[in-house]
Amino acid sequence: MTVPTAIVSNGDCALHDTGWSHPEHQGRLPAIMKGLHAQMPDLLDRALQVEAPAAGEGDLLRVHSPAHVERVREAVALAGEKGRSLNLTMDTVVSGASWDAAVGAAGAAIHGVRLALAGQAETAFAITRPPGHHATPDRAMGFCLFNNVAVAARWAQAEAGVERVLIVDWDVHHGNGTQDVFYDDGSVYYLSLHLAGHYPGTGHPHQRGYGPGRGTTRNITFPHGVERDYYLTVYEEAVAEAADTIVPDLVLVSAGYDLLAGDPLGGLCLEPPDMHLMTRLVMDAAGPASGRVAVVLEGGYVPLRLAEGVVQTVRALARLPAAAD
Ligand SMILES: [Zn+2]
Repeated sequence: MTVPTAIVSNGDCALHDTGWSHPEHQGRLPAIMKGLHAQMPDLLDRALQVEAPAAGEGDLLRVHSPAHVERVREAVALAGEKGRSLNLTMDTVVSGASWDAAVGAAGAAIHGVRLALAGQAETAFAITRPPGHHATPDRAMGFCLFNNVAVAARWAQAEAGVERVLIVDWDVHHGNGTQDVFYDDGSVYYLSLHLAGHYPGTGHPHQRGYGPGRGTTRNITFPHGVERDYYLTVYEEAVAEAADTIVPDLVLVSAGYDLLAGDPLGGLCLEPPDMHLMTRLVMDAAGPASGRVAVVLEGGYVPLRLAEGVVQTVRALARLPAAAD
């Protein structure tokens, strides 16, 4: 029996210890789980809960250089030896548990795609941390070690017969890593909507891809505090245009909830019910892909708001109406 959605997690993701003063801290996942549990009467027959296997090194190497994978492994081993967290970059922290968390996160993204493609669930939500979209093929940055969405897209192409992928990235930050991976690749359309002039300073609208990838990157920027209605109108048009261009076999979402009003690392004004609408618009655009949508968690730094946003996304994936405010 196919259920509308799968909630995919990996227990090791929760163990990635960045310290409580770090925005991407260990309180994020428990907040999401608590929010989802409160939805269980509605979700019970509509959402599989699945523990994902970790990604293998070969999965990482479809996106990342061997040197990068090794650097992450060595940094985590050193943190484990010292018994404390270490900075891999200025803002990217690892603890002794971070290797297992990172391959758990990439594995959850892959498994969400696997379930959606195999028809066990129509859609999937992978609850991942550390996040992924800033990780480039050769560099960890912006709290990200491995690029979970990119690893899942490449897995789908290598292992599941998928040719064309659409990635919609609504995190308030530009996913520079994802753009880097697919910039010259016409088989993956990367659409990012983000705050202008914000970290990491990439994602200009004139960047539209290179060589065979020309036209399959699109960056849309918004000023601080832009009207929700305007954002949503632009989003709807951009998702439809991207889907018309790539005609995807699979749609992935880099779902950051730092676009919600009040996020300490944000500056946009979206509200949790907007996440329901935005998810439905992605599902509509995925129509030709038999509705194959896998959502992968990125940012979102007010745990309760993050949980509200995830709940709205999962309700949309489960074909339930939006939760009341
Ligand atoms: Zn973000």
